[in-house]
Amino acid sequence: MSEIRDVIIIGSGPAGYTAALYTARADLRPLVFEGFQFGGALMQTTEVENYPGFPEGIMGPELMDSWRKQAERFGAELVSDDVTRVDLSGPVKKVWVEDREYQAKTVILATGSAFRPLNVPGENELMGRGVSACATCDGFFFRDQHIAVVGGGDTAMEEATFLTKFASKVTIVHRRDEFRASKVMADRALANPKIEVAWNSAVKEIKGTDGKVSSVELVDTVTGEERELPATGLFIAIGHDPRSELFKGQVELDESGYVKVAAPSTRTNVEGVFAAGDLVDHTYQQAVTAAGTGCTAALDAERYISALN
Ligand code: FAD
Repeated sequence: MSEIRDVIIIGSGPAGYTAALYTARADLRPLVFEGFQFGGALMQTTEVENYPGFPEGIMGPELMDSWRKQAERFGAELVSDDVTRVDLSGPVKKVWVEDREYQAKTVILATGSAFRPLNVPGENELMGRGVSACATCDGFFFRDQHIAVVGGGDTAMEEATFLTKFASKVTIVHRRDEFRASKVMADRALANPKIEVAWNSAVKEIKGTDGKVSSVELVDTVTGEERELPATGLFIAIGHDPRSELFKGQVELDESGYVKVAAPSTRTNVEGVFAAGDLVDHTYQQAVTAAGTGCTAALDAERYISALN
Protein backbone atom coordinates (compact mmCIF):
# COMPACT_ATOMS: atom_id res chain seq x y z
CA MET A 1 0.00 0.00 0.00
CA SER A 2 1.35 3.43 -0.93
CA GLU A 3 1.86 6.21 1.65
CA ILE A 4 -0.98 8.69 2.12
CA ARG A 5 0.21 11.99 0.65
CA ASP A 6 -1.17 15.37 1.57
CA VAL A 7 -1.92 16.45 -1.98
CA ILE A 8 -2.18 14.89 -5.40
CA ILE A 9 -2.52 17.27 -8.35
CA ILE A 10 -3.81 16.00 -11.69
CA GLY A 11 -2.71 18.20 -14.59
CA SER A 12 0.35 20.22 -15.51
CA GLY A 13 -0.91 23.41 -17.12
CA PRO A 14 -0.88 26.84 -15.49
CA ALA A 15 -3.46 25.67 -12.90
CA GLY A 16 -1.69 22.43 -11.99
CA TYR A 17 1.82 23.89 -11.76
CA THR A 18 0.66 26.90 -9.76
CA ALA A 19 -1.14 24.61 -7.33
CA ALA A 20 2.08 22.54 -7.20
CA LEU A 21 4.24 25.58 -6.51
CA TYR A 22 2.04 26.81 -3.68
CA THR A 23 1.50 23.43 -2.03
CA ALA A 24 5.22 22.63 -2.34
CA ARG A 25 6.12 25.92 -0.66
CA ALA A 26 3.62 25.07 2.09
CA ASP A 27 5.66 21.88 2.68
CA LEU A 28 2.88 19.57 1.50
CA ARG A 29 5.15 17.66 -0.98
CA PRO A 30 2.57 17.51 -3.77
CA LEU A 31 2.59 14.61 -6.18
CA VAL A 32 1.78 16.00 -9.62
CA PHE A 33 0.53 13.82 -12.45
CA GLU A 34 1.59 15.85 -15.44
CA GLY A 35 0.01 13.64 -18.02
CA PHE A 36 1.75 12.03 -20.94
CA GLN A 37 2.67 15.49 -22.26
CA PHE A 38 3.64 18.04 -19.64
CA GLY A 39 2.79 21.74 -19.79
CA GLY A 40 -0.81 21.87 -20.97
CA ALA A 41 -2.37 24.02 -23.68
CA LEU A 42 0.42 26.60 -23.92
CA MET A 43 2.76 23.92 -25.27
CA GLN A 44 0.77 24.20 -28.51
CA THR A 45 1.43 27.86 -29.04
CA THR A 46 4.31 30.12 -29.95
CA GLU A 47 4.44 33.60 -28.47
CA VAL A 48 2.48 34.46 -25.30
CA GLU A 49 2.29 38.22 -25.00
CA ASN A 50 -0.32 38.62 -22.28
CA TYR A 51 1.17 36.72 -19.37
CA PRO A 52 2.08 39.42 -16.85
CA GLY A 53 5.75 39.84 -16.06
CA PHE A 54 7.13 39.29 -19.55
CA PRO A 55 7.23 42.67 -21.29
CA GLU A 56 8.79 41.17 -24.42
CA GLY A 57 6.46 38.13 -24.43
CA ILE A 58 7.62 34.55 -24.00
CA MET A 59 7.25 31.35 -26.02
CA GLY A 60 4.52 29.09 -24.58
CA PRO A 61 6.79 26.03 -24.08
CA GLU A 62 9.49 28.17 -22.46
CA LEU A 63 6.96 29.65 -20.02
CA MET A 64 5.69 26.20 -19.07
CA ASP A 65 9.21 24.83 -18.66
CA SER A 66 10.04 27.67 -16.22
CA TRP A 67 6.81 27.03 -14.35
CA ARG A 68 7.66 23.34 -14.07
CA LYS A 69 11.18 24.06 -12.77
CA GLN A 70 9.80 26.54 -10.23
CA ALA A 71 7.39 23.92 -8.83
CA GLU A 72 10.17 21.30 -8.78
CA ARG A 73 12.57 23.65 -7.02
CA PHE A 74 10.33 23.69 -3.94
CA GLY A 75 9.87 19.93 -3.84
CA ALA A 76 6.91 19.09 -6.09
CA GLU A 77 7.25 15.50 -7.27
CA LEU A 78 6.40 15.28 -10.95
CA VAL A 79 5.24 12.13 -12.71
CA SER A 80 4.73 12.17 -16.48
CA ASP A 81 1.86 9.73 -16.56
CA ASP A 82 -1.82 10.04 -17.36
CA VAL A 83 -4.08 9.21 -14.43
CA THR A 84 -6.39 6.44 -15.59
CA ARG A 85 -8.86 6.13 -12.71
CA VAL A 86 -9.83 7.91 -9.49
CA ASP A 87 -11.90 7.21 -6.41
CA LEU A 88 -12.46 10.56 -4.73
CA SER A 89 -14.97 9.41 -2.10
CA GLY A 90 -14.03 9.05 1.56
CA PRO A 91 -11.26 10.70 3.54
CA VAL A 92 -8.47 8.93 1.63
CA LYS A 93 -8.62 9.66 -2.10
CA LYS A 94 -7.29 7.09 -4.53
CA VAL A 95 -5.70 7.76 -7.89
CA TRP A 96 -4.48 5.12 -10.30
CA VAL A 97 -2.07 5.05 -13.18
CA GLU A 98 -3.05 1.72 -14.74
CA ASP A 99 -2.58 -0.74 -11.83
CA ARG A 100 -0.50 1.53 -9.64
CA GLU A 101 -2.45 3.13 -6.79
CA TYR A 102 -1.63 6.42 -5.08
CA GLN A 103 -3.39 7.90 -2.05
CA ALA A 104 -3.86 11.40 -0.68
CA LYS A 105 -5.92 13.42 1.74
CA THR A 106 -6.70 15.98 -0.97
CA VAL A 107 -6.80 15.99 -4.75
CA ILE A 108 -6.65 19.04 -6.99
CA LEU A 109 -8.21 18.48 -10.41
CA ALA A 110 -6.60 20.61 -13.14
CA THR A 111 -6.89 18.68 -16.38
CA GLY A 112 -7.98 21.67 -18.47
CA SER A 113 -10.16 21.64 -21.53
CA ALA A 114 -9.54 20.90 -25.15
CA PHE A 115 -10.76 23.03 -28.03
CA ARG A 116 -12.65 21.03 -30.63
CA PRO A 117 -10.34 20.67 -33.60
CA LEU A 118 -11.42 20.79 -37.24
CA ASN A 119 -9.37 17.68 -38.04
CA VAL A 120 -8.29 18.95 -41.44
CA PRO A 121 -4.88 18.88 -43.15
CA GLY A 122 -2.66 21.81 -42.16
CA GLU A 123 -4.34 22.37 -38.77
CA ASN A 124 -1.70 20.76 -36.54
CA GLU A 125 1.27 21.92 -38.60
CA LEU A 126 0.11 25.54 -38.65
CA MET A 127 -1.17 25.76 -35.07
CA GLY A 128 0.43 28.89 -33.55
CA ARG A 129 1.51 29.91 -37.04
CA GLY A 130 -1.72 31.48 -38.14
CA VAL A 131 -4.10 28.85 -36.76
CA SER A 132 -5.42 29.70 -33.30
CA ALA A 133 -8.18 28.72 -30.94
CA CYS A 134 -8.10 31.90 -28.89
CA ALA A 135 -8.85 35.40 -30.22
CA THR A 136 -8.05 37.11 -26.91
CA CYS A 137 -4.62 35.47 -26.98
CA ASP A 138 -3.66 35.90 -30.60
CA GLY A 139 -5.84 38.60 -32.21
CA PHE A 140 -3.14 41.21 -31.70
CA PHE A 141 -0.80 39.37 -34.09
CA PHE A 142 -3.16 39.88 -37.04
CA ARG A 143 -3.22 43.64 -37.44
CA ASP A 144 -4.50 44.69 -40.90
CA GLN A 145 -4.80 41.08 -42.06
CA HIS A 146 -7.67 38.99 -43.38
CA ILE A 147 -8.81 36.47 -40.79
CA ALA A 148 -11.22 33.54 -41.10
CA VAL A 149 -13.22 32.43 -38.06
CA VAL A 150 -14.82 28.99 -38.13
CA GLY A 151 -18.06 28.45 -36.24
CA GLY A 152 -21.62 29.63 -35.89
CA GLY A 153 -22.24 29.87 -32.16
CA ASP A 154 -21.86 32.70 -29.64
CA THR A 155 -18.11 32.11 -29.28
CA ALA A 156 -17.57 32.47 -33.02
CA MET A 157 -19.62 35.68 -33.10
CA GLU A 158 -17.75 37.11 -30.11
CA GLU A 159 -14.33 36.16 -31.51
CA ALA A 160 -15.14 37.51 -35.00
CA THR A 161 -16.40 40.82 -33.57
CA PHE A 162 -13.35 41.11 -31.30
CA LEU A 163 -10.98 40.36 -34.19
CA THR A 164 -12.33 43.27 -36.25
CA LYS A 165 -10.36 45.53 -33.87
CA PHE A 166 -7.21 44.26 -35.53
CA ALA A 167 -8.10 42.68 -38.87
CA SER A 168 -8.75 44.42 -42.14
CA LYS A 169 -11.49 41.86 -42.78
CA VAL A 170 -12.98 38.87 -40.94
CA THR A 171 -14.76 36.06 -42.77
CA ILE A 172 -16.93 33.79 -40.64
CA VAL A 173 -16.95 30.32 -42.16
CA HIS A 174 -20.12 28.45 -41.26
CA ARG A 175 -21.36 25.11 -42.51
CA ARG A 176 -25.03 26.05 -42.48
CA ASP A 177 -27.12 28.93 -43.84
CA GLU A 178 -27.95 30.38 -40.43
CA PHE A 179 -26.09 30.84 -37.17
CA ARG A 180 -26.70 28.86 -34.01
CA ALA A 181 -25.64 31.92 -31.97
CA SER A 182 -28.10 33.99 -29.99
CA LYS A 183 -29.84 36.61 -32.12
CA VAL A 184 -28.23 39.55 -30.36
CA MET A 185 -24.69 38.18 -30.89
CA ALA A 186 -25.38 37.20 -34.50
CA ASP A 187 -26.96 40.58 -35.29
CA ARG A 188 -23.99 42.41 -33.83
CA ALA A 189 -21.56 40.40 -35.95
CA LEU A 190 -23.63 40.73 -39.12
CA ALA A 191 -23.92 44.51 -38.67
CA ASN A 192 -20.15 44.90 -38.46
CA PRO A 193 -18.87 46.28 -41.78
CA LYS A 194 -15.59 44.34 -41.47
CA ILE A 195 -17.36 40.97 -41.19
CA GLU A 196 -18.39 38.80 -44.14
CA VAL A 197 -19.91 35.33 -43.93
CA ALA A 198 -19.07 32.31 -46.04
CA TRP A 199 -22.40 30.46 -45.59
CA ASN A 200 -22.72 26.73 -46.26
CA SER A 201 -18.97 26.41 -46.16
CA ALA A 202 -16.66 23.95 -44.43
CA VAL A 203 -12.89 24.06 -44.16
CA LYS A 204 -11.28 21.31 -46.23
CA GLU A 205 -7.64 22.27 -45.76
CA ILE A 206 -5.49 25.03 -44.29
CA LYS A 207 -2.65 25.98 -46.59
CA GLY A 208 0.64 27.58 -45.64
CA THR A 209 3.49 29.41 -47.28
CA ASP A 210 6.88 29.57 -45.52
CA GLY A 211 5.33 27.82 -42.51
CA LYS A 212 2.50 30.34 -42.01
CA VAL A 213 -1.16 30.28 -43.00
CA SER A 214 -1.73 31.77 -46.45
CA SER A 215 -5.18 30.50 -47.43
CA VAL A 216 -8.07 28.25 -46.50
CA GLU A 217 -9.59 25.72 -48.87
CA LEU A 218 -13.38 25.76 -48.46
CA VAL A 219 -15.96 23.32 -49.70
CA ASP A 220 -19.59 24.30 -50.25
CA THR A 221 -21.68 21.98 -48.03
CA VAL A 222 -24.60 22.11 -50.52
CA THR A 223 -22.99 22.00 -53.97
CA GLY A 224 -19.63 20.43 -53.09
CA GLU A 225 -17.88 23.20 -55.00
CA GLU A 226 -14.41 24.11 -53.72
CA ARG A 227 -12.82 27.52 -53.44
CA GLU A 228 -9.77 29.12 -51.90
CA LEU A 229 -10.16 31.91 -49.34
CA PRO A 230 -7.00 33.98 -49.01
CA ALA A 231 -6.44 34.56 -45.26
CA THR A 232 -3.39 34.73 -43.00
CA GLY A 233 -5.22 33.73 -39.85
CA LEU A 234 -7.75 31.04 -39.03
CA PHE A 235 -9.51 31.01 -35.67
CA ILE A 236 -11.26 27.81 -34.67
CA ALA A 237 -14.34 28.62 -32.59
CA ILE A 238 -16.45 25.48 -32.62
CA GLY A 239 -16.29 24.87 -28.89
CA HIS A 240 -14.24 23.46 -26.02
CA ASP A 241 -14.69 20.23 -24.11
CA PRO A 242 -13.56 19.99 -20.49
CA ARG A 243 -11.32 16.98 -19.79
CA SER A 244 -13.62 15.69 -17.06
CA GLU A 245 -14.28 12.15 -18.30
CA LEU A 246 -12.27 10.68 -15.39
CA PHE A 247 -14.32 12.57 -12.82
CA LYS A 248 -17.83 11.70 -14.05
CA GLY A 249 -19.84 10.22 -11.22
CA GLN A 250 -17.19 11.36 -8.71
CA VAL A 251 -17.72 15.11 -8.50
CA GLU A 252 -20.61 17.23 -9.67
CA LEU A 253 -20.32 18.48 -13.25
CA ASP A 254 -22.44 21.08 -15.03
CA GLU A 255 -24.49 20.27 -18.15
CA SER A 256 -21.45 20.92 -20.37
CA GLY A 257 -19.20 18.66 -18.30
CA TYR A 258 -17.26 21.37 -16.44
CA VAL A 259 -16.51 20.64 -12.78
CA LYS A 260 -18.74 22.66 -10.47
CA VAL A 261 -17.09 24.50 -7.57
CA ALA A 262 -18.36 26.69 -4.76
CA ALA A 263 -16.86 29.89 -6.22
CA PRO A 264 -14.93 31.93 -5.24
CA SER A 265 -13.42 28.84 -3.55
CA THR A 266 -12.30 25.84 -5.60
CA ARG A 267 -14.20 23.32 -3.44
CA THR A 268 -16.11 20.69 -5.36
CA ASN A 269 -19.11 18.95 -3.82
CA VAL A 270 -16.73 16.28 -2.45
CA GLU A 271 -14.76 17.04 0.71
CA GLY A 272 -11.04 17.34 0.10
CA VAL A 273 -11.39 17.60 -3.68
CA PHE A 274 -10.67 20.92 -5.37
CA ALA A 275 -10.74 21.93 -9.02
CA ALA A 276 -9.07 24.74 -10.92
CA GLY A 277 -8.34 26.20 -14.34
CA ASP A 278 -10.12 25.55 -17.61
CA LEU A 279 -11.64 22.34 -16.25
CA VAL A 280 -13.93 24.61 -14.23
CA ASP A 281 -13.97 27.84 -16.21
CA HIS A 282 -15.83 28.05 -19.50
CA THR A 283 -15.79 31.82 -19.55
CA TYR A 284 -12.30 33.25 -19.23
CA GLN A 285 -9.92 30.40 -20.19
CA GLN A 286 -6.65 32.27 -19.93
CA ALA A 287 -3.29 31.21 -18.51
CA VAL A 288 -3.41 33.90 -15.84
CA THR A 289 -6.94 33.00 -14.71
CA ALA A 290 -6.04 29.30 -14.61
CA ALA A 291 -2.94 30.13 -12.56
CA GLY A 292 -5.10 32.24 -10.23
CA THR A 293 -7.52 29.43 -9.47
CA GLY A 294 -4.57 26.99 -9.21
CA CYS A 295 -3.29 29.19 -6.39
CA THR A 296 -6.74 29.28 -4.79
CA ALA A 297 -6.97 25.48 -4.95
CA ALA A 298 -3.60 25.12 -3.23
CA LEU A 299 -4.65 27.47 -0.42
CA ASP A 300 -8.02 25.69 -0.10
CA ALA A 301 -6.25 22.31 0.11
CA GLU A 302 -3.76 23.64 2.65
CA ARG A 303 -6.54 24.94 4.89
CA TYR A 304 -8.48 21.70 4.57
CA ILE A 305 -5.42 19.69 5.64
CA SER A 306 -4.69 22.05 8.56
CA ALA A 307 -8.25 21.58 9.79
CA LEU A 308 -7.77 17.78 9.71
CA ASN A 309 -4.64 17.92 11.86
P1 FAD B 1 -4.21 23.07 -19.49
O1 FAD B 1 -3.17 24.07 -19.82
O2 FAD B 1 -5.06 22.56 -20.59
O3 FAD B 1 -3.47 21.84 -18.80
C1 FAD B 1 -4.15 20.65 -18.48
C2 FAD B 1 -3.14 19.59 -18.17
O4 FAD B 1 -3.78 18.43 -17.70
C3 FAD B 1 -2.30 19.14 -19.35
O5 FAD B 1 -0.95 19.15 -18.96
C4 FAD B 1 -2.75 17.72 -19.61
O6 FAD B 1 -1.71 16.90 -20.10
C5 FAD B 1 -3.11 17.30 -18.20
N1 FAD B 1 -4.02 16.15 -18.15
C6 FAD B 1 -5.18 15.96 -18.81
N2 FAD B 1 -5.70 14.75 -18.51
C7 FAD B 1 -4.84 14.18 -17.62
C8 FAD B 1 -4.80 12.93 -16.93
N3 FAD B 1 -5.75 12.00 -17.09
N4 FAD B 1 -3.75 12.67 -16.12
C9 FAD B 1 -2.77 13.59 -15.93
N5 FAD B 1 -2.76 14.79 -16.56
C10 FAD B 1 -3.77 15.07 -17.39
N6 FAD B 1 -3.90 31.88 -22.69
C11 FAD B 1 -3.27 33.07 -22.42
O7 FAD B 1 -3.44 33.60 -21.33
N7 FAD B 1 -2.46 33.64 -23.35
C12 FAD B 1 -2.20 33.07 -24.56
O8 FAD B 1 -1.47 33.64 -25.40
C13 FAD B 1 -2.82 31.82 -24.85
N8 FAD B 1 -2.61 31.19 -26.03
C14 FAD B 1 -3.20 29.99 -26.28
C15 FAD B 1 -2.91 29.33 -27.47
C16 FAD B 1 -3.48 28.09 -27.72
C17 FAD B 1 -3.18 27.40 -29.02
C18 FAD B 1 -4.35 27.50 -26.77
C19 FAD B 1 -4.96 26.14 -27.03
C20 FAD B 1 -4.63 28.15 -25.59
C21 FAD B 1 -4.06 29.39 -25.32
N9 FAD B 1 -4.32 30.08 -24.14
C22 FAD B 1 -3.68 31.25 -23.86
C23 FAD B 1 -5.25 29.52 -23.13
C24 FAD B 1 -4.44 28.85 -22.00
O9 FAD B 1 -3.48 28.02 -22.58
C25 FAD B 1 -5.36 28.04 -21.10
O10 FAD B 1 -6.37 28.89 -20.60
C26 FAD B 1 -4.58 27.44 -19.93
O11 FAD B 1 -3.52 26.64 -20.40
C27 FAD B 1 -5.49 26.58 -19.06
O12 FAD B 1 -4.71 26.04 -18.05
P2 FAD B 1 -5.12 24.72 -17.27
O13 FAD B 1 -4.00 24.46 -16.32
O14 FAD B 1 -6.47 24.84 -16.74
O15 FAD B 1 -5.20 23.57 -18.37
